[in-house]
Amino acid sequence: MTKMTPQAYMDREAKYGAHNYHPLPVVLERGQGVYLWDVEGKQYYDFLSAYSAVNQGHCHPKIIKAMCDQAQKLTLTSRAFYNNVLGEFEEYVTKYFGYDKVLPMNTGAEADETAIKLCRRWGYRVKGINDGEAKLIVCENNFHGRTITVISMSTDPDSYGGFGPYTPGFIKIPYNDLAALENALKDPKVAGFLVEPIQGEAGVYVPDEGYLKKAYDLCKKHNVLFIADEVQTGIARTGKMLACDHEGVRPDILILGKAISGGVMPVSCVLADDEIMLTIKPGEHGSTFGGNPLAGKVAIAALEVVKEEKLAENAERLGKIFREEMSSIKSEMIELVRGKGLLNAVVIRNKPGKTAWDVCLAMAENGVLAKPTHGNIIRFAPPLVITEEQLRDAIARIKDAFKKLE
Ligand code: PLP
Repeated sequence: MTKMTPQAYMDREAKYGAHNYHPLPVVLERGQGVYLWDVEGKQYYDFLSAYSAVNQGHCHPKIIKAMCDQAQKLTLTSRAFYNNVLGEFEEYVTKYFGYDKVLPMNTGAEADETAIKLCRRWGYRVKGINDGEAKLIVCENNFHGRTITVISMSTDPDSYGGFGPYTPGFIKIPYNDLAALENALKDPKVAGFLVEPIQGEAGVYVPDEGYLKKAYDLCKKHNVLFIADEVQTGIARTGKMLACDHEGVRPDILILGKAISGGVMPVSCVLADDEIMLTIKPGEHGSTFGGNPLAGKVAIAALEVVKEEKLAENAERLGKIFREEMSSIKSEMIELVRGKGLLNAVVIRNKPGKTAWDVCLAMAENGVLAKPTHGNIIRFAPPLVITEEQLRDAIARIKDAFKKLE
């Protein structure tokens, strides 16, 4: 059989797959730790980590072992029956994050949908809002996924444009704006405030210090649930287990996804205390795959790795080095460096004929993979198992890429 060229792989995807993504032109076939290899054997540092799903590194041996062991016993029962793993996972994850209960789902968007349902239900059954009238406050430039209700919260025309009609019941306010939040909270029909502790997809927007804590306090003052979408910022990415931990905030509803499985399979969940979680009764919410035993074992192993390998501490320490080094690059194309832990972004100043896309192509050429978001912002989010030596090697390659574009 003749070997396929990278172009042949890309052409096949273009021919048979929907055109809902615009990937960088590399065709990957293998990953281990911080590294990826393409079909021609070229090695890269992964500086995207599948949008922060692979915090534990590619194909982490402990997580893969947990997966293989369980896959040979039992993968899926549905929730029509009990299984011997779900309770183990539920006990593990609720104790890990300190909540009464968990509701397991699969993708981040589904977990966000679940949180919205829980919040509305709490609004009716506990807060006493008239049925069908509950509202949630959300932030401009948010990203919570791609389902119809989730894009109904979006202010990004690429996300919502041309997909209406939209789900009502959302009040959109600017991010990082406490006055706007306080004003919106005056509406007694508001049941929740849904926020990303750092806006990841929008381009790693870090709010002012104290924003989350003050926003939480305002929510409490108005009897409104503070809901944190930590799908991208959670699981050690920003230098603490949760980004909310930086300000000592414990969300009323916590949404997790991506790295809770180490990027091995789709696992997401929503955590909350009984007053909120028990407002949903049997038959009122669920998912065929949510809470399957394979996911349970994978997630337990993935969460163990985060603590065993001190990934939060590593992200905190290496993130500082990364921002310091990137800020020292003398390139007219670098406008701004920002981030927290190992969730960082470089805002690119385009110059004639050279954009963030060209920077990413030059970095790929040098063996570092990252991708622009919103045109001129490049997110840098390597697996958290990266060592200082690997980080410094990758930074040298990134610096060289900028030099080549001068
Ligand atoms: N929430 C946030 C904050 C995200 O960053 C994402 C994905 O990037 C999602 C939700 C959606 O997750 P999924 O793609 O698994 O549906």
